[in-house]
Amino acid sequence: MHTTPPGPVDMPRIFPQVIPFARTTIRLHPRRGSPTAEQSSVGGPLLWPADEPWPICVGDGAYDHFDDAPDPAEVPLVPVAQLFADDISGIPFPEGTDVLQVLWCPFDHDPWSAPRPELRWRRRADIGALLTTMPAPHQDADPEYVPDPCVVDPEPVTEYPTHDLPDEVRSQIRRTMQQLEADTGWEYETDLAVASGIKVGGYPGWTQSPDWPVCTCGAPMEHLLTVATCEFSRGDERRWIPLEERPAMAGWGFDSADDHPWRAIQNPAGLMLGDAGGIYLFVCASCPDRPFDYRFDCS
Ligand SMILES: [Zn+2]
Ligand SMILES: [Zn+2]
Repeated sequence: MHTTPPGPVDMPRIFPQVIPFARTTIRLHPRRGSPTAEQSSVGGPLLWPADEPWPICVGDGAYDHFDDAPDPAEVPLVPVAQLFADDISGIPFPEGTDVLQVLWCPFDHDPWSAPRPELRWRRRADIGALLTTMPAPHQDADPEYVPDPCVVDPEPVTEYPTHDLPDEVRSQIRRTMQQLEADTGWEYETDLAVASGIKVGGYPGWTQSPDWPVCTCGAPMEHLLTVATCEFSRGDERRWIPLEERPAMAGWGFDSADDHPWRAIQNPAGLMLGDAGGIYLFVCASCPDRPFDYRFDCS
């Protein structure tokens, strides 16, 4: 079990202005383990049809694979997440599908010097004979771009926007935010608003200005999945460490050695995306084939 503690303040009473913007995100709480292809996972094996070629990247953008050009130039994508409709609510599966698979190329790409993701939507019952061995990551791939296998423990959490809050609402709550912080130490942005870590739906935890993709149909895309480097970061750990793991985290600090047990809780997939940033995936829920786009964001 992984339980995010409830917000420390009565949001409807203290911040009534943000209540209309509440969204539910599903924190996946990935933790190192040995997921099978039959399970939802982060970085685990995928249910992959034996007769379907594994996707590769040839790095065809001008700066793709730029600093670390792999040899040979064809790179197998690596599994990032597999999510079953039975396990996780709120994913806008295209009609007739119930498995979402996310893969990416573990080298830098235009325009953000970050891995480039791809999605597969499948119907579990139609997959048939399975590929039994996933291709090994490319020998030159940066291990920090290859998620370590993690089991997941999805938990719905209510969150409120930070950078996505309209300016007029933000100015309405500014004094309350300052007063709350002065009185209690709790900060709206880090403790009360957007949930940390790898998660489905809800709001991206933008560090830069929001940059929501718009579909070719004209509709703004929805946030599908955040693949964050860390499950929590310096400053937001008071709220976002699951209650069950707080004993194991006692005495931890960001200065602790890398092999300290807390690292497996704070950075379970062993990722480092830029400066502890994240890759946000978006889909258009209006178009039946779910056009997809993504953003890379870090401080
Ligand atoms: Zn690539
Ligand atoms: Zn669309």
